[in-house]
Amino acid sequence: MGDLSGAVAIVTGGARGQGAAEARALAAAGASVVVADRLDAEGRALAGSLGDAAVFCHLDVAEPDQWADCVDAAVQRFGRVTVLVNNAGIVIANRLEDATLDEYLQVVRVNQVGCFLGMKAVVGPMRAAGGGSIVNVSSTAGIEGMEYLTAYAASKFAITGMTKCAAIELGRYGIRVNSVHPGSVDTPMIRDRGVSDEEMAAFGAALPLARVGRPEEVARLVLFLASDNSSYCTGAEFVIDGGLLAGPPPEPVAAQPVTAEPATPGPVTAQAAPAAGP
Ligand code: NAD
Repeated sequence: MGDLSGAVAIVTGGARGQGAAEARALAAAGASVVVADRLDAEGRALAGSLGDAAVFCHLDVAEPDQWADCVDAAVQRFGRVTVLVNNAGIVIANRLEDATLDEYLQVVRVNQVGCFLGMKAVVGPMRAAGGGSIVNVSSTAGIEGMEYLTAYAASKFAITGMTKCAAIELGRYGIRVNSVHPGSVDTPMIRDRGVSDEEMAAFGAALPLARVGRPEEVARLVLFLASDNSSYCTGAEFVIDGGLLAGPPPEPVAAQPVTAEPATPGPVTAQAAPAAGP
């Protein structure tokens, strides 16, 4: 999927979920990885499992001073920074009329401000390294609205826009910037909201690919964008959603009556044609 030998990657929210899968995939492709998260125990354990290729750095993505420390730690340990995966995120779902300003600002602080500060923090080191790749993890909710997710969608649409602005500005330095838009992926973000296996399966069944995604599948897309395999991609939205945004699910196809004699061939009308697929 891509050789990342010599690359040095910072993965925010790297302690668990998609971030942990991304850290593993980047390390397996040859990158040195800084696992950056505010979950110290999980982040240290993950970095430890990757051996000398990884270190853990405590980071709250909304704190500029902690970003400076994290980038310094990456440069001290591995010599440079060439990849940033702005993956850290939180979700708070609530009806618009019940949502509080505090909830809204919590979500924007992590998802939107965190992404902004991360991009800012790595421009200098990436320019010094001769270029790099920034992968901003948005969501399908950064392309299309979703019920009860006003704050989350605001923050994820912001990532979509910031990605394009940064791509325009940083292309001249050999720095590419793209956004990734997962649909539903089976991670603690979803499970911690009390979603059961049955509910997860039921939701997945309504999708064209008939299942929710796995963190490793998102990690493969991130790996592609981090590597030179995507050398002509910048400022773009990469959707990975099992077909969620392709359109509404097809109507169930009614069982066709079986007749002994084939019907007389006639013109195919819109009503006679099946709604979709075989
Ligand atoms: P997760 O909750 O499993 O992991 C998120 C990680 O971010 C955690 O390790 C958490 O500690 C970390 N984090 C949260 N706030 C932080 C902060 N202030 N500073 C540093 N780290 C912080 O979630 P996930 O599903 O793996 O989500 C990863 C990204 O993918 C998020 O940006 C999320 O919005 C996005 N996403 C997830 C889904 C999904 O269905 N799981 C769908 C679309 C987009």
